[in-house]
Amino acid sequence: MINLLDFDLDGLVDWFAERGEKAFRARQVMRWVHREGCDDFERMTDVAKSLRASLATNACIRAPRPLRDTVSADGTRKWLLDVGNGNAVETVFIPETSRGTLCVSSQAGCALDCAFCSTGKQGFNRNLTAGEIIGQLWLANKLLGAARDAAPDLEAGERDNGRIISNVVMMGMGEPLANFDNVVTALRLMLDDHAYGLSRRRVTVSTSGIVPAIDRLREECPVALAVSLHASNDDLRDRLVPINRKYPLAELMAACQRYLVRAPRDFVTFEYVMLDGVNDQDAHARELVALVRDVPCKFNLIPFNPFPHSGFRRSPAERIRRFAGILIDAGIVTTTRKTRGDDVDAACGQLAGQVQDKTRRSVRFVQSMEVRP
Ligand code: SAH
Ligand code: SF4
Repeated sequence: MINLLDFDLDGLVDWFAERGEKAFRARQVMRWVHREGCDDFERMTDVAKSLRASLATNACIRAPRPLRDTVSADGTRKWLLDVGNGNAVETVFIPETSRGTLCVSSQAGCALDCAFCSTGKQGFNRNLTAGEIIGQLWLANKLLGAARDAAPDLEAGERDNGRIISNVVMMGMGEPLANFDNVVTALRLMLDDHAYGLSRRRVTVSTSGIVPAIDRLREECPVALAVSLHASNDDLRDRLVPINRKYPLAELMAACQRYLVRAPRDFVTFEYVMLDGVNDQDAHARELVALVRDVPCKFNLIPFNPFPHSGFRRSPAERIRRFAGILIDAGIVTTTRKTRGDDVDAACGQLAGQVQDKTRRSVRFVQSMEVRP
């Protein structure tokens, strides 16, 4: 059975055309599905009855099923979502005064194995489908009461003014650019006025630095870009972010510059996890200033979020302040990410979900821990 959540507008128009249906019908159905959060064809009252009946027999609207819904003391909300065969991914909603951000997962696990990331430590099972990716936004809108379907009494205007999810960051489990096609289909839906109508500046892809895919994203769907830098030189980055061995820093910096030519924002955000005694010294900060000299950028320092057996510690707050100070003195806008939701393991790098590890990485990880002194 076809899941309509797997289609962006072009895809839905094509599928409708194959069935002899006009493009405006596809737009109509798309609005019901994504704007109204409707999953029942019978309720699509302005769609012809015969079309509703044929949709009901050939298609469905199915998002991943929530297994657990946890609310942090700070209001951060985390859902564990079933994606079948014993795999589950996590989605996190972070409310702030002026915006609401949904942190979306792109893969069950991650193959890239960054040293400090609990998702990476679990290994990789599979890419999420486009429907499973956009399904996280579809479902969160519904569960937060933003979709009309969930709050039928609100007028459209009231609902839009109080848009609950104003920003999406692809910073959940997985490397989004390693699941390129499905992520781009989902991004297009986030941006489409017939679906979620988010501004390109408010949709962010975070990548560990897959250079050819950064170039493709620039051509196919430029949105705000965040790059997980985490190190100021290749030696250190080779160890912390192993994909660096394939795409070293000079290539990554050049890709960032090329991206900015078409990006909706005029800077790249560099994420930098602060690991005590590993990458957080004054010398690292000075090296970073030189590294990013030709790349318009902002820095977002992320205090390391611990998880069992990580082997790393968070840099002390005073160290993070000094490190930020060096970047700021060099004229680089630098913020330190507030830790949100860590009481429910919803903070950056803590999303573990549940992954049937095809790569057996978790086993290797535990073994590698055992041989340590
Ligand atoms: N795979 C993508 C996006 C997901 S991770 C990427 O790597 O960019 C989102 C951010 O959280 C990344 O910058 C990632 O490096 C960071 N992160 C991973 N583990 C972390 C941890 N334990 N503490 C703090 N940040 C972490
Ligand atoms: Fe994968 Fe990102 Fe974690 Fe690295 S930091 S292992 S790329 S999810």
